[in-house]
Amino acid sequence: MTMDPLATDCSPYPLDAPDTLRRFDDEWRTKAVLALAFGIRADGAFDRMPILADALEEAGCDDLFMLNHCRYCERHTPECWVLECVLPGGHEL
Ligand SMILES: [Zn+2]
Repeated sequence: MTMDPLATDCSPYPLDAPDTLRRFDDEWRTKAVLALAFGIRADGAFDRMPILADALEEAGCDDLFMLNHCRYCERHTPECWVLECVLPGGHEL
């Protein structure tokens, strides 16, 4: 399987993937997704990103680009674009 390089890099923000932001569905921001994303960012607990992928999937997220990034990137940063999608502008719970 060929991995999109962006799937393994969350910084810098993938400006050539703006569709991801446009397609982020409000319905994917479930309580579980928000709590996970907030906790990951607050605690720097990036080992929970695959759990966030599961929560996003359960919420109906079918964006494989986003799910794969959560699951396969091994060096997430607090500025991770997936976290930015879930918590735009660092918004709090
Ligand atoms: Zn990331």
